[in-house]
Amino acid sequence: MKVAIMGAGMSGLACAITLEQHGLTPAIFEKRNCVGDRFVNAEATFSILNRPVNNDLLYLQQNFNIHLRSTDAVKKLVIHSKNEIGSIDGNIGFVNIRGRHKESYENQLSKQVKSPIQFNSAAEYAQLCKEFDYVILAPGDGIYACELGNYRSDLTCTIRGATVEGDFLTDISHVWFNYQIIPRGYAWLIPFSEKEANLVIAYPDYPDNIRLDIDVMWNEFYHLACKQLDQNFTITDKFEINRYMMGICDKPRIDNTYFVGNCFGSISPGLGFGQFAAMLTGIYAAMDICGLGKYEELVKPLFDNYNNSLVLRRFLEGLDDTKLDFLIKNLDNKLTNNLIDFTLSKDSNFELLKNLTPVIETWNSFHSKNLSLK
Ligand SMILES: Cc1cc2nc3c(=O)[nH]c(=O)nc-3n(C[C@H](O)[C@H](O)[C@H](O)COP(=O)(O)OP(=O)(O)OC[C@H]3O[C@@H](n4cnc5c(N)ncnc54)[C@H](O)[C@@H]3O)c2cc1C
Repeated sequence: MKVAIMGAGMSGLACAITLEQHGLTPAIFEKRNCVGDRFVNAEATFSILNRPVNNDLLYLQQNFNIHLRSTDAVKKLVIHSKNEIGSIDGNIGFVNIRGRHKESYENQLSKQVKSPIQFNSAAEYAQLCKEFDYVILAPGDGIYACELGNYRSDLTCTIRGATVEGDFLTDISHVWFNYQIIPRGYAWLIPFSEKEANLVIAYPDYPDNIRLDIDVMWNEFYHLACKQLDQNFTITDKFEINRYMMGICDKPRIDNTYFVGNCFGSISPGLGFGQFAAMLTGIYAAMDICGLGKYEELVKPLFDNYNNSLVLRRFLEGLDDTKLDFLIKNLDNKLTNNLIDFTLSKDSNFELLKNLTPVIETWNSFHSKNLSLK
């Protein structure tokens, strides 16, 4: 059986590992020079969003024999709004490195793959379809799925980030929701060592936002982060991504083509997490090819999760700084604390996002009715 994987990233490599575990040797095509050939970037997975799985690394290890080492566990997430600061404490998730770093997740995955990877590949999808029995589309975006008329784009984002030097505790991450500076977007700081972190802003490309000057936005945010964290960060590297797609495919498989990773729709529009779902789609596609499950069935919870996350995105976009302040202020009240502690507790499989979605949906429709009446 001949299987081609287009893209040696999170989903493509997870797919390759799983195929190999079941006796298949895929042909892997990577357009870049090497695995992880992009800027170094700290990313995170928050288990609170992956329920019923409460430790994604252990889950991958125990269920799929895929081994990843995080940089650290996240024990505290500090959330800043315009005038308030709150925090979530507990077993929140993990931080990890991506890109050109020897410990990046891509590099860790590629060490578990035995099949050769063809780098600098210019192989086209149509050509792979002719030569292989199965094609796994894992290029990290929805462009192929769009071209095949199999993708709904819900929004695109502009992302600007930097590696900064400073003093960090690797188990504490920060997120900012400050619409005066980043309208309808957010920013984060994730450390990947005690001396280095990524500072990033991301916002949806709505007409009002496209008109804004990203340099002004970045400078304002950079100075705010320095002030609030009481540090003078030195920028050592920068990146910018334009029109980063968030959307989902209509059909996860068409004939013998599987859409995986961001080409499936693994990136959640609410807060931009996509790594864990990307790996799951790669694994599930391999399981289908090996006769161990049906891809369409296996990815059903990921469709639900995407749609719930889209409801969260619309909710966040409907807020203003006053409402964000109110929410962050109330993170520390007893009821919210108990709910978060319960969700984060080791044995809980309470699906916070899924259970909150109907409430958020009601708020969203009430809010949009109010807006249309104005
Ligand atoms: C700035 C930023 C921050 C993020 N932060 C987080 C986070 O904190 N937590 C989280 O969970 N997720 C995060 N994400 C999302 C997460 O990185 C993605 O969802 C995940 O990497 C998707 O995996 P993938 O396999 O689809 O794509 P990738 O891992 O990007 O892999 C795609 C691979 O395909 C290759 N490729 C592209 N086109 C071709 C082609 N034509 N032929 C061959 N190869 C090709 C690429 O070079 C790349 O190696 C972030 C994304 C960005 C951009």
